[in-house]
Amino acid sequence: MQQFDVLIIGAGHAGAQAAIALRQQGFGGSIGLLGEEPELPYERPPLSKDFLAGDKDFERMLIRPQGFWDERAVTMLPDHRVDRVDPSRHVACCIEGTEIGYGSLVWAAGGAARRLSCPGADLKGQHVVRTHADVVALKAELANANRVVIVGGGYIGLETAAVLAKKGLHVTILEAMPRLLARVAGPQISDFYAEQHRTAGVDVRTGAMVAALEGANGRISAVMLATGERVPADLVVVGIGIVPEVAPLLQAGAESASCGGVMVDAFCRTSLADIYAIGDLAAHANEFAGGVVIRLESVQNANDMATVVAKGVTGAPAPYRAVPWFWSNQYDLRLQTVGLSLGYDATVLRGSPAAGSFSLVYLRKGKVVALDCVNSVRDYVQGKVLIERGAEPDPAALADISLPLKSLLPL
Ligand code: FAD
Repeated sequence: MQQFDVLIIGAGHAGAQAAIALRQQGFGGSIGLLGEEPELPYERPPLSKDFLAGDKDFERMLIRPQGFWDERAVTMLPDHRVDRVDPSRHVACCIEGTEIGYGSLVWAAGGAARRLSCPGADLKGQHVVRTHADVVALKAELANANRVVIVGGGYIGLETAAVLAKKGLHVTILEAMPRLLARVAGPQISDFYAEQHRTAGVDVRTGAMVAALEGANGRISAVMLATGERVPADLVVVGIGIVPEVAPLLQAGAESASCGGVMVDAFCRTSLADIYAIGDLAAHANEFAGGVVIRLESVQNANDMATVVAKGVTGAPAPYRAVPWFWSNQYDLRLQTVGLSLGYDATVLRGSPAAGSFSLVYLRKGKVVALDCVNSVRDYVQGKVLIERGAEPDPAALADISLPLKSLLPL
């Protein structure tokens, strides 16, 4: 049986970064980086942006080239899927029956794209955007498509819509909530992006519930809405979130969380001895969310949790305490988000959405808790410091773009 001092399950952002951080921390033990996908670890954000657009080659998305992993003696185990963990024997079991022993286990298996479960969900022509293989399959079908329906008006759906609209396809976005980005951004941001997409020719429909997919000869031909309306479609792209990949850990007895995922403490330790969990699936009490237990699906969270684990394994534990940040590119707009707007009770608009450069500042009990900055890098950088320092600026001063945000810092 193969045996590693640290076995990492999931060779995505968090898993790859955990291996990198372990070596950076001087860890000299053996490291296995096991993942279900055949590729070397790669960055997912370009999948719905420049890779989908055809502006970036896959090789440029690799987190590190093969030589990097060889030099650092990280053993790559691609094409392996773990479906069981035995914490008492310190063994991970793969679906084909292979057992691999570990000293410490880092569970970094991310999540699978959630799919539709309505009638017709098995028809061909339905795509998700989570893996390299997903987007290769989507791109292969685009050549023969004219009408694309995107189910889900979150970041991945909107980025995909932007790329496909620029390619000249007829794109419809169906969002079940009353507005786009409803779970993550304030109404001003939702309205701004709805307007941008409509200007680009996208048919944006909110409050639109999918009831069924219709097809002919086994292929999708339309999306049927709960209202009975049919939206013709050659292709459907579903962007409705992920299902965290945690079943083996929960079956092994790890504590779960109501937001999905597996519960970890401030050091990314699960309730099982010598098992850590990081990345999209790690539910944790986040101090920037006022202590509420959440999962964060972002590169920042994956990378920072990886460092927390590396420090823990190498005997220099430091708790997870990173200001969350995220970005989204649509058309020529770069949205940068910092902090968490969860539970905000007021917003202040800085700048002009009409001019295409502005920020929305979120406040909770007078304190700045988050900013959404559209083409406004300076606000993003300076706003992060306001959040870190717990600033409570005067809302009128926040709205005044002649005052840089850093001038509003508490003395
Ligand atoms: P992943 O990167 O998903 O890696 C998990 C890996 O584990 C996968 O390779 C999976 O195949 C493997 N795996 C799963 N189950 C098993 C198993 N049982 N056994 C073995 N291997 C398994 N974030 C941003 O901050 N900014 C962005 O602009 C942005 N854009 C995005 C665009 C797209 C299209 C997507 C999909 C994500 C985007 N994200 C973005 C989110 C970001 O990519 C994720 O938060 C990040 O990849 C999470 O890292 P992870 O390691 O937790 O999971």
